[in-house]
Amino acid sequence: MASIRVHSRFHISCLAPAARCWHTAFVAGSSHHVGTKPSLRLRVTAAAETIVRGGHPWVFASSVRAQNRDGQTGELAVLFDRKDQFLAVGLFDADSPIRVRILHAGKPQAIDTPFWEQRALDAFRRREGLFDSGTDGYRCINGESDGWPGLVLDRYGDTRVLKLYTAAWLPRLAELAPLLARGNRLVLRLSRNMQETAANRFDAYDGQVLVGEPLAGPVEFLENGLRFEADVLRGQKTGFFLDQRENRRAVKALADGGDVLNLFSYTGGFSLYAADGGAASECSIDISEPALAGARRNFALNADRPAVARCRHETVQADVFDWLRHKSPRRFDLIVLDPPSLAKKESERTEAIGAYARLIAEALARLKKNGILVAASCSAHVSAAEFFNLTLETARQSGRRFAELKTTGHAADHPATFAEAEYLKCIYLKLLE
Ligand code: SAH
Repeated sequence: MASIRVHSRFHISCLAPAARCWHTAFVAGSSHHVGTKPSLRLRVTAAAETIVRGGHPWVFASSVRAQNRDGQTGELAVLFDRKDQFLAVGLFDADSPIRVRILHAGKPQAIDTPFWEQRALDAFRRREGLFDSGTDGYRCINGESDGWPGLVLDRYGDTRVLKLYTAAWLPRLAELAPLLARGNRLVLRLSRNMQETAANRFDAYDGQVLVGEPLAGPVEFLENGLRFEADVLRGQKTGFFLDQRENRRAVKALADGGDVLNLFSYTGGFSLYAADGGAASECSIDISEPALAGARRNFALNADRPAVARCRHETVQADVFDWLRHKSPRRFDLIVLDPPSLAKKESERTEAIGAYARLIAEALARLKKNGILVAASCSAHVSAAEFFNLTLETARQSGRRFAELKTTGHAADHPATFAEAEYLKCIYLKLLE
């Protein structure tokens, strides 16, 4: 009986004109509800309801029990609980297994321009006081963990880069661009899977300057007093790996006088910190020649710093896996190992763990007496505990005595509020002989 009653209430409310329906009031403020269509309403499974109430930001397609009509990517979807009470509102994505990305759960809430302004302000306030004037490159909005699911905003000096991981944001670009730019230049970057939709339906493209002066190449910014360029138009992610800033700073303190090897160097972030920390030599290895050219330019940008000028810097274009396999007598005092994500899907996890273990074993074999290994993993599908354990186990198997110096996780400008958002972990080991 009860279930029939619930179902009919749901049904009636779905058909009711917007003005008669209490819960349509909070979508009416959005500039993107679809014409005269009723707002999009979803009922989700009991398990999903619990998860959403617990603050998790994703509802998978398999958790949707009922839907009043087909939804379009980018619409607001209103979620109802088993008693047909408001549960949450989020962005609908017809093309993704993550069918709804939650914007707000709890009490009904208008999703309108003041809502977005407040959300942006909250994220910006969270970063106030984290950085001094020596750092003007950092993450301003870190996706779900800042209440902006599938959206990242990075700052590089007076340029901001908006990176979207779901097409659901595209219909809102005009509304959001000014409040995210806040008077700065704003560059749009799109994950590969949405570039076609963006071009065909929204006239938007990867590398588009949404606000401010056009841009021909990389922009410059400061990180802990060092000058870097970020290729915000074409570079990986938003142009630089801002997430490694704290580990780079730690590497600087460990590099003095040593020979340093930076594996998977990208544009030489760790390399430059090591040089600035007094490294005698630094060798950056990456498969991408444009990334290595960026590393050389970053060294040139800091040539006025005596320690950087003194350091012998070398770039090697190579596949790190091949390079490590190749026998060489060359040994290093400090090795940084920061590969790209080796497990992009759960099914790649076991293989990734094997690949990490091989990389770590081969890196350890290249360390001099008392050398230090800094090993990072950015695979969300390999947990911090798994990564640390496999590193320690591999080190034990090397037969050399060692100490664990420390482990690190996410920096304050890259908060992770739910398990799937935790991806970055790093472990520091020192050989004791
Ligand atoms: N440590 C860097 C970020 C590394 S990102 C920083 O702090 O900025 C991963 C890098 O690995 C990318 O630059 C990519 O070009 C490179 N890469 C991917 N596969 C590789 C391989 N098999 N061998 C060498 N480099 C590789």
